[in-house]
Amino acid sequence: MSQDSGPRSPQKPFNDPRADVILRSSDNVDFRTFKAILFSSSSIFDDMFSIPQPSTAPVEDVPVVEMEESARILELLLRFCHPGENPEMETFEDARDVLVVAMKYEMGFVAKAAQIRLLELGHDEPVRVYALACIHMVHDLAHDAARLALQVPEDDLLPTDHVTLHPEYSSVSLKAFVQLVSFHRRCSASLDLLVDGNFNGLVRPGVASCYNCGNPPFWWQEFKKTAKQKLKSRPCSETIDSWAYFPLYTCTSCKPQPTDMMKYIVKLREFIKDRVNQVPLDIDF
Ligand SMILES: [Zn+2]
Repeated sequence: MSQDSGPRSPQKPFNDPRADVILRSSDNVDFRTFKAILFSSSSIFDDMFSIPQPSTAPVEDVPVVEMEESARILELLLRFCHPGENPEMETFEDARDVLVVAMKYEMGFVAKAAQIRLLELGHDEPVRVYALACIHMVHDLAHDAARLALQVPEDDLLPTDHVTLHPEYSSVSLKAFVQLVSFHRRCSASLDLLVDGNFNGLVRPGVASCYNCGNPPFWWQEFKKTAKQKLKSRPCSETIDSWAYFPLYTCTSCKPQPTDMMKYIVKLREFIKDRVNQVPLDIDF
């Protein structure tokens, strides 16, 4: 920390002369803010200000609290607490650091916002989000990331290039990864017979055999076969959403009815979600 030039001041709203407390970042930036805002946002801050502060010399009679966090993270954290602010966590690292600090200060609403952002930013690499959640023992995020990982075929869960691996892969336990793969496989197994099922309420577009051609509808057999293959690899409802299905048929008597097919697919998506939601993710926290 440089003492030569003294602490720097950030922009509005953290330069308010009426502030009654200053949070000084680890890289020497003074954030002027209000105790009432901090109290209402964090029980840790509430406790902190309930006892006398043996802190740094006050500035203009405003107490200064030395923080362990950098200005970048402190600013994001405080912008969540200040009315009218809508902080943007632009990078995975921003959201990760905000999550960790929000947990430290027991700011649940900030932690939740960071989790949502991590799932957005980590959409294409859900195992990284899962690893982060396991490292910091964030139960909800681990579950959400494991469900997101169902959209990735099991063989593609891990990155192939070890040189550019993100740090989360170095810190997560192998056991946590095995638990993720086990979840993926159990979800896959839970859907194995679903497409064949003639369950209650499901509009089944096919018939056992057509009165005209005498065969089970060809397009229906093809749909079932392809759906089973796709769901085995990616056991989630998004698999059905992302599949542009163009049924082939030769007999007009048993040709697919678009309305029935749509009802079936909507119902199938619901069944997939229900089944997957019933599969537990066995993690240690
Ligand atoms: Zn037919």
